[in-house]
Amino acid sequence: MSLNETLRKLPKIGDLIERPEIKELVYFYGKNVVLKAAREAVNELREQLILSETSCHSKEKLTEENLIKEALKIIIKKLEEYKSFSLKKVINATGVVLHTNLGRAPLPKEVLENINNIASGYSNLEFDLDEGERGERYSHVKNLLIDLTGAEDAMVVNNNAGAVLLCLSALSKGKEVIVSRGELIEIGGSFRIPDVMLQSGAKLVEVGTTNKTHLYDYERAINENTSLLLKVHTSNYRIIGFTSSVERYELKKLAGKYDLVFMEDLGSGVLVDLRKYGIPYEPTVQDSVKAGVDVVTFSGDKLLGGPQAGIIVGRREIIEKIKKHPLNRALRIDKLTLASLEVILKIYLEGNMEKIPVIKMISKDLETLQKDAEKLAEGLNSILKEKGNAVVLDDLSEVGGGSLPGVQLPTKVVALRVYGLEPEEISKRLRSAKIPVIGRINKNEYLLDVRTMNEEDIFYTIDMVGKIVWEI
Ligand SMILES: *Cc1c(COP(=O)(O)O)cnc(C)c1O
Repeated sequence: MSLNETLRKLPKIGDLIERPEIKELVYFYGKNVVLKAAREAVNELREQLILSETSCHSKEKLTEENLIKEALKIIIKKLEEYKSFSLKKVINATGVVLHTNLGRAPLPKEVLENINNIASGYSNLEFDLDEGERGERYSHVKNLLIDLTGAEDAMVVNNNAGAVLLCLSALSKGKEVIVSRGELIEIGGSFRIPDVMLQSGAKLVEVGTTNKTHLYDYERAINENTSLLLKVHTSNYRIIGFTSSVERYELKKLAGKYDLVFMEDLGSGVLVDLRKYGIPYEPTVQDSVKAGVDVVTFSGDKLLGGPQAGIIVGRREIIEKIKKHPLNRALRIDKLTLASLEVILKIYLEGNMEKIPVIKMISKDLETLQKDAEKLAEGLNSILKEKGNAVVLDDLSEVGGGSLPGVQLPTKVVALRVYGLEPEEISKRLRSAKIPVIGRINKNEYLLDVRTMNEEDIFYTIDMVGKIVWEI
């Protein structure tokens, strides 16, 4: 049979669409989508036939009926792909708690209930219910932030990079800002302090050296054009060895002497002493406020464990000035974020930190991790049978998200071995599973770290591994 003869047997779209199986699909997915899938399926089949022409496929199997069956299979697969969203749930089995590529902080269920309530209807977002007139969107979190941090005033924008840009634009445009050379950070996603500074119209004045900056370095750089001293938390790296930086209270005194604003970009906004959870001390927002920093900015979705947001707390007249800057309108926080942030801050105020997934995952003890890992390994072994095995191993997980560099948390991982599949291949297949599972590979082992997995994740991971095992 020649290629042309075979190609003529390809199903016609008009005939396909009349098939009862397709009519049912049209009922579920709509005619346009099914037609598009049918066209794509026939094209794919045509390409397959042309490509396989040189290989000696049993061509007698290429009946019209078989080609229709093939086309139907492709159409159904395509329709399932259309139906699924591009942005979807994945299982984070990397053990990296604040995984920037996987959406940083997962939110507690209390937050979702509130989002549902606020998003599905109208709200008093900018409406003062007492006065019956226009209100301020920050009012819903302002007092919580004041109570938690001890600051005079507070506001929130889209993210912390935005918060830093806004503060510098509002407070230092055309003026000089002094920063230590040891704090000129770059974090992922091209946020670099010198670039943000340039964008804001403030002039960066670098002082000191990479490893040491002294109070006199700052003082010597001050002139009549200086407006602000900026301290930046080196969130994603540590300088160790022969180092020194200037304490906040000293910078505060210096700022006071020359009538300058003292600002700090804290990066990760920690509101609790993490030593409680066996993690080295991280400066808290309260520390900065207490030390007299005039304006402090931090992220909502790093160690705070809330939604993406840039939180600004500080002295009232400074916050007022920032609020009035036109850039604030461009960076403003949306109602879903506010609905979610209010819940998170209430949880902190009530002291129920274990309700916050980020804190819960960071503080998971080895006993719990061992139990979870055993459960996962057991489930995996029961579906792998003679096709592979799963064993529990000791390992280390990271906090991630540019927070707590160098801090490694002892954890338990499950090494998944499937005979005939390299770790990269296991990884690839699990990434394309219905609920993608993202693990990590270390020393040629595919590892699933249970620190970042909840009960449901463990259950679905076993299910997804079952599907790839079934295919081999
Ligand atoms: C993470 C970080 C930022 C940026 O915060 P986003 O919320 O990601 O925009 C800025 N500064 C520091 C020091 C950070 O660690």
